[in-house]
Amino acid sequence: MAAQTDRGVPLSTLSPKFLHTNSTSHTWPFSAIAELIDNAYDPDVSAKQFWIDKTMVKGEVCLSFMDNGNGLDHETMHKMLSFGYSDKMAVNGLEPIGIYGNGFKSGSMRLGKDAIVFSKSKSISCIGMLSQTYLEKIGAKQIIIPIISFENKKSNRISVKEKQEASLKDILQYSLFKSHEELLAEIDAITSTLSSTKTGTRIIIWNLRRTSSGSTEFDFDRDRYDIRIPSEVYEELSDPSRPLNRSTSYVPESVISLREYCSILYLKPRMQVMVRGQKVKSQLIAKSLAYIRKDHYKPTFLDKRIPIIFGYNTKSKDQYGIMMYHKNRLIKAYERVGCQLKANMKGVGVIGVIECNFLDPTHNKQSFNETDKYRKTINSLGTKLEEYWNEIRFRKTKEDPNSTVPVEDTMKRPDQNWVQCDSCLRWRKLPDGIDVNKLPDKWYCLLNPDPQFRSCKVEEEPEDSDDDQPSYRKTYKQQERENKKKQGQKFEQEEEEGYLDLDTLDRQSKAFKRQHNKLTRQLQQVSPNYLTSRADSTLRRSSNITQAPGSPPSSESPLVITNVCSLSAASATLRGKRSQVVTPQSTPKRPRVNGFQPGASDTPVSVRIDSSDTDETDDDDIVILETASTPKPKQPVGTLRKVKQEKEESENQIPMVLECTDDAAVDETSAATAEAETCPPTAVASATTQTTAFEVKEEQPSQNQTEGNGETASRSGSTPDLPVEREVKKEQQNRTEGSYETASRSRSIEREIKLERGDGVENHQGETLGNGVAHMESDEGAGPSSVLQYPNIDEVQKQQDQLVELMQETAQERDALREQLKLLTSQLEDMQSRLQEQSQAKVKESSHQACQTDTQTDYKGLFERAKQKINDLIRDKEALLAANESKSNPNCGQDEENDIEEISLKVSRLVQELDERNKEREELRLQLDNLEEEKSTLAAQCEELKLRMQQQRENAQPSAGSRTSGTNSDASSCLIELRQNVGRLLVSRVPALDLAQVNFECNVIDEILEQVLTGTDFDFPG
Ligand SMILES: [Zn+2]
Repeated sequence: MAAQTDRGVPLSTLSPKFLHTNSTSHTWPFSAIAELIDNAYDPDVSAKQFWIDKTMVKGEVCLSFMDNGNGLDHETMHKMLSFGYSDKMAVNGLEPIGIYGNGFKSGSMRLGKDAIVFSKSKSISCIGMLSQTYLEKIGAKQIIIPIISFENKKSNRISVKEKQEASLKDILQYSLFKSHEELLAEIDAITSTLSSTKTGTRIIIWNLRRTSSGSTEFDFDRDRYDIRIPSEVYEELSDPSRPLNRSTSYVPESVISLREYCSILYLKPRMQVMVRGQKVKSQLIAKSLAYIRKDHYKPTFLDKRIPIIFGYNTKSKDQYGIMMYHKNRLIKAYERVGCQLKANMKGVGVIGVIECNFLDPTHNKQSFNETDKYRKTINSLGTKLEEYWNEIRFRKTKEDPNSTVPVEDTMKRPDQNWVQCDSCLRWRKLPDGIDVNKLPDKWYCLLNPDPQFRSCKVEEEPEDSDDDQPSYRKTYKQQERENKKKQGQKFEQEEEEGYLDLDTLDRQSKAFKRQHNKLTRQLQQVSPNYLTSRADSTLRRSSNITQAPGSPPSSESPLVITNVCSLSAASATLRGKRSQVVTPQSTPKRPRVNGFQPGASDTPVSVRIDSSDTDETDDDDIVILETASTPKPKQPVGTLRKVKQEKEESENQIPMVLECTDDAAVDETSAATAEAETCPPTAVASATTQTTAFEVKEEQPSQNQTEGNGETASRSGSTPDLPVEREVKKEQQNRTEGSYETASRSRSIEREIKLERGDGVENHQGETLGNGVAHMESDEGAGPSSVLQYPNIDEVQKQQDQLVELMQETAQERDALREQLKLLTSQLEDMQSRLQEQSQAKVKESSHQACQTDTQTDYKGLFERAKQKINDLIRDKEALLAANESKSNPNCGQDEENDIEEISLKVSRLVQELDERNKEREELRLQLDNLEEEKSTLAAQCEELKLRMQQQRENAQPSAGSRTSGTNSDASSCLIELRQNVGRLLVSRVPALDLAQVNFECNVIDEILEQVLTGTDFDFPG
């Protein structure tokens, strides 16, 4: 305790208890072992092999760790056994893992209470001991570490320096090795390795930690080539930072098997680990995955991208998550992130590999300090992992759309096969198709099928640089965007198609309207008389409604009910459409669509506004409806006065009436509909209806008659009051509407509408006809103010009861009326058929009688004319066809033929010409030959003449010498004669020669002759 510096300031001391305290950071035993492996792996040791084994020394279970690294000298061993000394430095770019210089102490003291280190370097051997038992036994107040160093094996005795004697004595006394020989045997164990360096370090730990049951915390028996942690021991480990994934009960194999853990301990393993004599097949984890994709994480706090490798585990789909390394050393294994933490089966089987040198590991190197950086990293990893998972799934679905097997459940093989050379420890990439599991236990570079890397002297294949490799393309994102776009387009298309449908429907409705008009006109022409009688009957029926103002509520109620009925969207829709049927051209497309759709949800009021201006009279019932649903200020429409008067009445009961009548009325109607549809019309009509009807009948017929008189048979289709026409119209509309609503509305609703419309017409009929009667009353007290007076509950109840009664009564009346209507309709049909028979008979008669009438002849004439015209047309057509044929059919051929003929003609002409030319040529050649002959004869003549001239000259010269005067004149005359002869001869050759001009005294003619003779070739014409 007296240790102090030279100046007397005391040194800090370290209690032996600290050895235990220091070791508690390793809750998980493998993390303690990893520290020992790290020490050997570090560049200052740079061991190539590391052995982990269980040994028995003097009957005690021990763990032994041995490397074939550089070994330790006295000083480095002292530092190794001391605290806080870490002068580890990077060697050849390899950074040391041990940063705290605490690995050996914390690691070894976690595994057992005592440890002894044997080391052999090139020159000396060292033995050191770190033993809690020893410190306890000697009662040490401070940690003391016996260390000895000695020359490499000179004898079988250890000779140490004097000051190390105490250390040697304590080692021999307190360690398991009691003699020099035993200690030296351990040193020899180091050199017995296959390593050529014959150096290394050997650690033996005894007094192993035991569980509460007294057994060691390792299971050495289950697998004789492995060191495992029994599950009960693992469960005892309660540290939250233990490498167990808290989200699942699944324990990765690497957590309980040392062999498995060692295989992934380093991102890029440079050292072989032998667990219990068998090589650990270390994994190049980032390269042992399937469907590998490289992504990048760019932290905000760093200015560089961190690569992340994603892939599927090829061995077990249960082992997945992020493998987080720090300086090549595994910190966190299978850390589940993002979607993997949720129970949605997302990200199953996916492994991410990242080296987080920017994060700080905790002291036990099993986690990172929970900083903001760490959390950000984990979040980002979660996002990127889900992206990868989506991408691979998207791609797999694209490859095989019918596959239902998740990617994680399919058989996968690593994208690449890498194997480590047992000699140089370099990793070599094997060609595809080689099963790594079938390779020999010891593999060397010279076994490499790839000749480029078939030697231990060849450097490892360079890894792709992180910077120039982009992250993988996330195509599924693009697809998602496209899908969104497509959906939008599809929606637009559907909308367009909808418009198209509406267009066709519009056209159909127009066609129907035309048909309807035609039918109406036919009907009018056929039965004007019948119509009047029919109108009478209709009036009779509607009269009791017309009576309404006079009689108490009972007469009103039908109106109320029908109104409420027509509140239904269907009838509202009808209104909207009917206006269209009447004036389809004037109704633009858009408003109709608007009226069509809101009709189902909006109040009918808006619908009415849409349609009323086109067909005012048709909307009477709607107006009532309006008053019932939403009290409105009075309508200034003239024809609706009576309605307003009713409104006043009904408004008093609005809140209640609406509530109960709504449903009831609808039920009534549908019930009535069913009845009316199924039962044949009976002749039974209630007596009261009939009698009351008569009162009005007296008035109405006159009105109708005046109307009828005025217009008689010439009623136009536009007269809105014609009941028959209206009915036809109705039917027409129903048909049209049916086609409109096929998709959206059921048949039953349609039928209901049909009947409701019947009601509406009845009302309408009554009101319009009743105008004359109820005209005056209509203006009385129709103020909207009455709406706001609410009667008390009793009154209301009473009123309600009354109304219900009324309703029932009215419904009965209505049914009766309906039956009547049926009856009348059948009568009408009867009448119509009779009328038709009659008219047919008449037509027959008339055609019989009027055989010779004007019209008949006219007809005949017309027929004749028409016939003629048709014939004309047929002829025209035939002519045209013929013309067309002559033009079109042969034309193309003829043109060609003409062309060919023309060409052949030309050719023949040319051939003829050629023949002619040939003939001409022959003639010319003949001429030429003749001329040639002539020429030769001439030339011969010329020669002859020359010869003669020569002779004459010769003859003349001697004579001229003897007889100068006489012979001279003779010779010259002879010469002149000759020249004259020659001249005559020459004339035949040279026609231009005028002999009269030629002077024969001189030699002109001789020269000409000369010229002719020499220039024959040129002068003769061809
Ligand atoms: Zn090699």
